[in-house]
Amino acid sequence: TVPSRPDQVPGVAAGRLDTSVMHPARRYNYWLGGKDNFAADRESGDQIAAVYPAIRTVARENRAFLRRAVRFLAAEAGIRQFLDIGTGIPTADNTHEVAQAVAPDSRIVYVDNDPMVLVHARALLTSSVAGATAYLDADLRDPDRILADPELRRILDLSRPVALMLIAVLHFLGDDDGPYDVVARLVDALPSGSYLALTHFTTDFLAADVTERASTQFAGGRRPDGNPRSRAEIERFLGGLAPVEPGVVPASEWRPEVPADQLPPLHEASIYGVVARKP
Ligand code: SAH
Repeated sequence: TVPSRPDQVPGVAAGRLDTSVMHPARRYNYWLGGKDNFAADRESGDQIAAVYPAIRTVARENRAFLRRAVRFLAAEAGIRQFLDIGTGIPTADNTHEVAQAVAPDSRIVYVDNDPMVLVHARALLTSSVAGATAYLDADLRDPDRILADPELRRILDLSRPVALMLIAVLHFLGDDDGPYDVVARLVDALPSGSYLALTHFTTDFLAADVTERASTQFAGGRRPDGNPRSRAEIERFLGGLAPVEPGVVPASEWRPEVPADQLPPLHEASIYGVVARKP
């Protein structure tokens, strides 16, 4: 539920939670059909949907990828530790719920920099008794701070494999944020046998006029959040990691659980997904 006076929620610094400005976490919540959003988020979401109605499909397909990827990591790759950066507002099938349904001893550290996610973080701290979860209010652009955080070190043993989850977050980093260095820094801190799971918005499948109008809308928020990348640019994030089958594909086509004729058409599937293993 939305706190009636969000500025008074303990732990949220005065002024940090501005409901009059669009926040990507709340706009994504709106596209997913959630209730944790405000007029500014809905307005921005509707403006993008007017140009690109499939954005809601993209949001749902992205969330479904997260589910399938976590299940693969827990059930098939044997992963028991997750670092989920760009968590989003808690909704159905949060990473710890999916992982702990497979392996109750799974340990998850969530990281987001949106105060609205912090407000709802309690819903992420509902770990099974055998496992553990923690939430860090931190910025992906400061990977060293994340890695050094005592709470992260308490939950995760960085000498054992970790799945780094960067699901629908890297497109919020501009090229001047050094996104490739950020990912490399995080992956470097993890041992062999670790995984990187990511999704990333792309305009590879969109008509040029849609791309142009949508990127104007995407740039209209408080933070620049329109950094779609091409397949080649997204592959670069993998560095020396080995993608598991089927590699970098539209997220809806990554190990789908529905028959091929039920997948969205490519122009509605404008988000790539991949899971890769650190050798
Ligand atoms: N991973 C979730 C939520 C994606 S929405 C999912 O795929 O379902 C993107 C999230 O990334 C938002 O919650 C937003 O607040 C967060 N985010 C954007 N930029 C960030 C940054 N620099 N550091 C940490 N989190 C960020």
